[in-house]
Amino acid sequence: MVLEGHLRCAAAELPLTAGDEAHFGERGMALAATLPDLIATPAGLAYRAADHPAARISLRSSSPDAFAVVERETGTLLGTVDGARADSTVHEGAVYLHMGEQYLVESADSATRVALVTPFRGDWYTQVKRHSATVVVAERQARRLPGADLWFGEIEVTEQVVGYQRRRLSDHRPIDLVALEMPEHRFATEAVWFAPAEPPPREVLLGALHAAEHAMIGLLPLLAICDRGDIGGLSTDMHPQTGRPTVFVYDGHPGGAGIALRGFELFESWVQRTADLLRDCPCEAGCPSCVQSPKCGNLNEPLHKGAAAALLHAIDQAGRAAGHA
Ligand SMILES: [Zn+2]
Ligand SMILES: [Zn+2]
Repeated sequence: MVLEGHLRCAAAELPLTAGDEAHFGERGMALAATLPDLIATPAGLAYRAADHPAARISLRSSSPDAFAVVERETGTLLGTVDGARADSTVHEGAVYLHMGEQYLVESADSATRVALVTPFRGDWYTQVKRHSATVVVAERQARRLPGADLWFGEIEVTEQVVGYQRRRLSDHRPIDLVALEMPEHRFATEAVWFAPAEPPPREVLLGALHAAEHAMIGLLPLLAICDRGDIGGLSTDMHPQTGRPTVFVYDGHPGGAGIALRGFELFESWVQRTADLLRDCPCEAGCPSCVQSPKCGNLNEPLHKGAAAALLHAIDQAGRAAGHA
């Protein structure tokens, strides 16, 4: 999927010819021949639409809206932060980590795209609170399993950072919650989503779905080659489009990179391995190795490890019982 985007961009600049095999390999050229928006011309494979495909593909380091992170005292450029992640990592008041050193963000100017930081030695870190929503745009595949209904398709994600929490480093206790006014971001991507056949009891429903979502996101990089930071998720006790309690796991990169599709295809083993992880994690009520997520937009609330373990175990067992019947 990454290659498809690159091929479109290349073909939009100059038609692709046999010589481009040096850049894209044999597989890339074979893939190019199958793309419906590339058309064979005497000059080679040309991009046929009138738009500019490169504008739809972000290359992490060169995204035009990236923030520069600058140390105020020295003027040293510490690094850049991708535009999509800037609201979460370099907002005013954020504790920003760079090469193992902590910095406090003093100001973040959205017009100049510069965040000024200063070395920091306080006993807290920060985590943003985010409002998110998902809308199913196109359902591409569906599977009905004994323990859950499962879908794969395109969704639109809306995210807005609404504040940040300061937490003490020593014991992770919350200190306070500070409101932020940030713009809403919207992007289209691919997702796998499921609705359990037998949802957990109402008192623990959201905690179970949310904890299951985090644990599944933590485990997915073992099945799809990716970083957990590339994956997003959302749990709801009632999604207006499925009409049921639903868990979404989506590609964090606009357009998708094949991660959600892997989750859809390998769902049974994904669920089973996540259920095993929850059963085997020695913590009592959840820890960063199982259900807590460092980038949770809900500040890891609510999470119910036991109910999540029971939910995933039930989906796994229902599948096995049906398989053996
Ligand atoms: Zn744990
Ligand atoms: Zn979360």
